[in-house]
Amino acid sequence: MQKLRLQRKNNGLCVYCGKLKDREGIYCSICNKALNILKKQYSINSHKDNKCSNCGKLTIGEAWFCPSCLENYKINARIRNAFRRANNLCVQCGNDSVDFIYCQRCRDMTKARRNQNKNRKEKIKMLSSKEIENILLEQLKQLQAPLVTINKIKGIKQIDGKIIISSLRVNMGKCTGNEFEAIKTMRQQVEIMNGILISGIIVDL
Ligand SMILES: [Zn+2]
Ligand SMILES: [Zn+2]
Ligand SMILES: [Zn+2]
Repeated sequence: MQKLRLQRKNNGLCVYCGKLKDREGIYCSICNKALNILKKQYSINSHKDNKCSNCGKLTIGEAWFCPSCLENYKINARIRNAFRRANNLCVQCGNDSVDFIYCQRCRDMTKARRNQNKNRKEKIKMLSSKEIENILLEQLKQLQAPLVTINKIKGIKQIDGKIIISSLRVNMGKCTGNEFEAIKTMRQQVEIMNGILISGIIVDL
């Protein structure tokens, strides 16, 4: 079996199905996708049952691997990395990489991932409570309720670009019927504009 895999690998074929590869790495894109789904599903199922994703033995706490698999994994990774470094291979994927520890493709992927995370963080950081208040005021204006003022925004949480507010306190002292309709609409909506979720609106008169 190992021999067949090696033969396929050396001939640029998918080591799983033996067909011509259409991507870098050792599997063709179809096999790679299928194997990743299987691996992920197996891991999730094992983790749910507190079992090691590799050997099935019981794990401690929230760990995905049992202590002995984790130790083996670390040792193997260290050996593999040392081998790759010594042979001008990318530490990440094992493809040729002469001048760098990581090959161009892995460097590009790392860079893209880092930028994605940075963008996500910046997007979340951008919104202060004042800015959230402005978005809500804008929404009220659109709902034809410009006389509603915001007293307090409580419990702001920002997760994955979504903003969750546990309670919004508004003042409607000077308001007419239309403003009450607008607040009623806002109360019925689970999601207000720009991904803001409000679990409760308190009205002060
Ligand atoms: Zn394949
Ligand atoms: Zn294990
Ligand atoms: Zn690489």
